[in-house]
Amino acid sequence: MRRYIYSGLFVAILILLYFVKAKEFERSAFYMDTLWEVKIVSHVYPKRAFNRVFAVIAHIDSIANVFGNGELAKINSGHRVQVSRELKEMLEVGIKIGNLSGGAFDVTIYPVMKCWHFFHDRYVPTESEILAALQKVDYRKIEFRHDTLVIPEGYGIDLGGLAKGYAVESAIKVLKDMGVRKALVNGGGEIGVIGSWKIGIRHPREQDEIIDTFTLVDAYVATSGDYERYFVKDGKYYHHILDPRTGWPAMELVSVTVVDTSGVWADAIATAAFVLGREKGKKFLEQLGITRYWIYTREEFQNLETTE
Ligand code: ADP
Ligand code: MG
Repeated sequence: MRRYIYSGLFVAILILLYFVKAKEFERSAFYMDTLWEVKIVSHVYPKRAFNRVFAVIAHIDSIANVFGNGELAKINSGHRVQVSRELKEMLEVGIKIGNLSGGAFDVTIYPVMKCWHFFHDRYVPTESEILAALQKVDYRKIEFRHDTLVIPEGYGIDLGGLAKGYAVESAIKVLKDMGVRKALVNGGGEIGVIGSWKIGIRHPREQDEIIDTFTLVDAYVATSGDYERYFVKDGKYYHHILDPRTGWPAMELVSVTVVDTSGVWADAIATAAFVLGREKGKKFLEQLGITRYWIYTREEFQNLETTE
């Protein structure tokens, strides 16, 4: 009898230790032009899990990067290459969101993105430069032929609107497969979690301020904001989320945050809603069954056009 009590006690202590000793470990690195932060709750330092997660993020970065000589960069420079599963999945979501948003989201925005030198300087393109580039924007022209991708001459693909969300989702899947029970992956504001986490939404104008907080459980949250990449020239504010109908930055909103069960969908949906603006954006989100979202308009955050 006593033996049973002792072994029962022993098991109880083990269980207690299991819960008490789990700690939050964190590792960060720079990919996709942004800081990635991964948190894993574990009893020992989860080195293997961190390594695998960052390998996945690096892999997707190399596929979706428009610079260098990865898969997408090759396609954009006119090469016929075999399309990876990852690129195909990203494009399929991009095309679907293109259809669902009536073209507000367009993965072939690349020629217009190039007119704006967001990565280099404060260049405002001329209207005729933009109009010429817009001739080469239409996601419906993307064709899959067997394993390759065909786009018309002069066209180009930009997955900046959803690749981070795809990488977050891939990272979370890897962690789940490894049996991780509590983790958070944050790629520059696109977030995925396993378990329950408290999340803060960044104030669209005050970098270190939080405008709202909420609890996210086994889901994803994505934010599209006009503050991620922008410049001010001659008192005017320009940023990197473009309206494919005009080629100019979409100016009605300052940020859109959405919660969804998929990271890549959340990312693309947030960008599309940003372009659509408040009323159309809301309708679009509701049509898609998105029940948790935050839309902030420019009107609510004035005084931007004068800050140099
Ligand atoms: P962030 O990089 O700030 O998370 P978003 O998810 O909002 O940004 O995506 C913005 C990026 O999406 C741009 O940098 C560009 O690469 C791409 N993009 C810009 N406008 C569009 C659009 N109308 N449709 C699809 N992608 C876009
Ligand atoms: Mg996005």
